[in-house]
Amino acid sequence: MNIIIAGAGAMGSRFAAALNHTGNHIILIDGWPANVNEVRFNGMHVNVNGVETVEHFDIYGPDEINETTPKADLIIVLVKSYQLDKTFESLKPVITDDTYVICVMNGIGHEDTIRKYVPLSHILLGTTLWTARLDGPGHPVFTGEGAVSLQCFDEEGKEKCAEFIDLLNKAGLNACYSYDLRSVIYEKACITGVLNGLTAILECNINEFRQLNAQMGPVAKQIIHEFAMVAAAEDIHQNEDTFLQEVDKYMENNADSFTTMYYDLIRSHRITEIEYMNGAISRKGRKYGIETPYCDLITALIHAKESLLNAF
Ligand code: NAD
Repeated sequence: MNIIIAGAGAMGSRFAAALNHTGNHIILIDGWPANVNEVRFNGMHVNVNGVETVEHFDIYGPDEINETTPKADLIIVLVKSYQLDKTFESLKPVITDDTYVICVMNGIGHEDTIRKYVPLSHILLGTTLWTARLDGPGHPVFTGEGAVSLQCFDEEGKEKCAEFIDLLNKAGLNACYSYDLRSVIYEKACITGVLNGLTAILECNINEFRQLNAQMGPVAKQIIHEFAMVAAAEDIHQNEDTFLQEVDKYMENNADSFTTMYYDLIRSHRITEIEYMNGAISRKGRKYGIETPYCDLITALIHAKESLLNAF
């Protein structure tokens, strides 16, 4: 099977390295020329819990994709939310009627973008609790444990979904089928909604944030309340305590990690996915007449910080 990983950054590299020994043809597409060149000529130097191996891949830049590029049986897309539409534009030559897409990116509503390119029945949406970072082009670093939850939109995709879950498990990615994906997506959105913006604003890692429980615990509860109210307006009725437990569990499993927003904004001065996290809750809140002052403020503060840091 030809598996295209679109976005060979931190998380795309994690999936690529894991899938590279499953007997499939893994093709990487990435928008960072230095990363493409490093992986193409020197391989991907993968550091898992301090142990380094070198993995080799076919890798292309988006502008190198054309009719001669192998067609994709499966695309696993792991770009930033705001790069998704442009990524699929460049993927058009490798998409056929039989192409499936797995999207486990953070954020809400990605199926609305992807369905412009692939029918909804071929989209498998989900979440991942794995973490990853890039220490430089072609040098991803992986620590901690994680999991993947996937669901398809209709019966047609179910068989394929089971096949891809087997594949991800063969790669050690700890995948399972979710019977209630919309709740799972909101659970993950809550985790990022509490942690990503605040750890970037406070410039701390997850463990440091956890130590601030006296000050930040009540703030986290208010953010979760806003997510739960908006979820309820979309007929997703999840207990706020369950959301809170998921946030606590994530902090425990990833105590030594920094969030992606911290890496993007503080370390790399790159614009963030805040509009697809707290910003999405603010927009949906306005639509449903629900007040979301904490999400509004976090979104505004992150945008202000993007401006101050000249994020690009
Ligand atoms: P990243 O910035 O490290 O990687 C994204 C990659 O996409 C970059 O290397 C970039 O060059 C590439 N790209 C940009 N435009 C492209 C295009 N048109 N075609 C192909 N590639 C293109 O980001 P990441 O941290 O790997 O995050 C990817 C997704 O995974 C995000 O939605 C993020 O929220 C989610 N996620 C990340 C983590 C983590 O720990 N890194 C954890 C959970 C979820």
